[in-house]
Amino acid sequence: MKVLLVSSEVAPFAKTGGLADVAGALPLALRKLGLDVRVVMPGYHSNQYGGQKPETVLPQILVQLGRNHFWGDVSRATLPGSDVPVYFINNPEFYDRAGLYQENGRDYPDNPRRFAFFCKAVAWMIKGLGWTPDVIHCNDWQTALLPVMLKTDAEMKDDAELRSIGSLYTIHNMAYQGNFWAGIIDDLGLDRALFRTSALEYYGAVNTMKGGLLFSDQLSTVSPTYAREIQMPAYGCGLDGVLRDRAEDLTGILNGIDYEAWNPEADAHLAASFSWSDLAGKAVCKEALQAELGLESREDVPLLVMISRLDPQKGLDILLPQLPEILKLDVQLAVLGTGRADYESMLAEAAKAHRGQMAAVMKFDNGLAHRMEAGGDIFLMPSRFEPCGLNQLYSLRYGTLPLVRRTGGLADSVEPLAPDASWGTGFVFEDYTEAAMMKALRQALALYGRPDAWRRTQVRAMKMDFSWDKSARLYIDLYEECGRTDL
Ligand code: ADP
Repeated sequence: MKVLLVSSEVAPFAKTGGLADVAGALPLALRKLGLDVRVVMPGYHSNQYGGQKPETVLPQILVQLGRNHFWGDVSRATLPGSDVPVYFINNPEFYDRAGLYQENGRDYPDNPRRFAFFCKAVAWMIKGLGWTPDVIHCNDWQTALLPVMLKTDAEMKDDAELRSIGSLYTIHNMAYQGNFWAGIIDDLGLDRALFRTSALEYYGAVNTMKGGLLFSDQLSTVSPTYAREIQMPAYGCGLDGVLRDRAEDLTGILNGIDYEAWNPEADAHLAASFSWSDLAGKAVCKEALQAELGLESREDVPLLVMISRLDPQKGLDILLPQLPEILKLDVQLAVLGTGRADYESMLAEAAKAHRGQMAAVMKFDNGLAHRMEAGGDIFLMPSRFEPCGLNQLYSLRYGTLPLVRRTGGLADSVEPLAPDASWGTGFVFEDYTEAAMMKALRQALALYGRPDAWRRTQVRAMKMDFSWDKSARLYIDLYEECGRTDL
């Protein structure tokens, strides 16, 4: 089977979020299972090619968008440590910029054109290479117009090769939909007839994600629970009706994690290594973390950790009001995150007022994230919604028991602790309320007071399998269902 993964970011070349991790890791797992998988992304100015020098494979590609023509070219490297080809669609005018999508917090105004160019160039690249995938796997709004173009563009829809391609569209977060003013229909050279409620029109605007949802042969998102949730108004961000209409074609597949980067038995960021069969190193990591963050050196106190974008999605509006109550308990708290200024200052003030008990580090620090996963006891992730979530998966692997709300990927990866503690891997609450969260915290602290039961739970958590191999097999099943259906 031949699959082309189409993504606006791919680790380690360019990354702003979890999408890049998926786009960098899933193809490796698919390749190991024998697929002819290739990846395509824009050639950004900031791409990290690691010692590779991409070779030009198509020196000229001409893309027409409405009345304008744009030239680009295609170069090729491989995903590090593999023979998986990664194609870069190059166009300096569009991609030689400081950011991927924005600069100084403001989206680039020509984003629709930048990514429509990308989508169309991908189709012409397929023709130019003479390599026709069975399935294109598109991700998020930046690539959503490709399935639309394949089925509606005058030149593409009757092309014998392009016609044979099936499509999968994966939603990584419903909150980012790529909504633009109606005029881009002409600018992008899309068929004007697409400006209707049953296509791209969305309350007077053009919604590119909606196009992906309606024109792709199959849809997926990054956890089974999120796949159900987004069909409800509370989680669907206005597109729940569209998703209900396509419920039969919507699948949820949990993301895997990078087991090489996140392995407590061989993690260069840690003071000591450990595993489920020998947890001694975890105590060393805790002591080292306490020293690094200026927390009191105490082995017996439960250390709560949180690593997060500081965004309302992540549950900060139920956590922050409870900080005074939490800090009255015999616990330590460490938070690593960046985001909303008011959240940052509340956390920094609380840490200042509770020196030795609480630390707040407001920056992006991957090494510290690893040390916190290793040195913590309880991982806090009380998200309002969570398409998949990675940190709870890392924390399970590092024996740092997660406290989570039962939503999205959190519901699918953390098993609630049984009342007698005989099974379960974490502390799960249902209602998005301070009281429900605090009840789960009390449950966590009660278990912490029973070292044997705590340890058994840690071992269960650390033995769970969230490898990409497992998820990649599910994607292959889905690709097999992606045969092109015409409109
Ligand atoms: P989301 O993609 O919604 O931000 P995830 O849990 O899926 O949440 O992934 C977040 C990723 O970013 C994880 O790998 C996490 O460790 C990392 N991360 C988030 N904030 C920080 C930070 N301040 N420092 C280091 N790593 C961070």
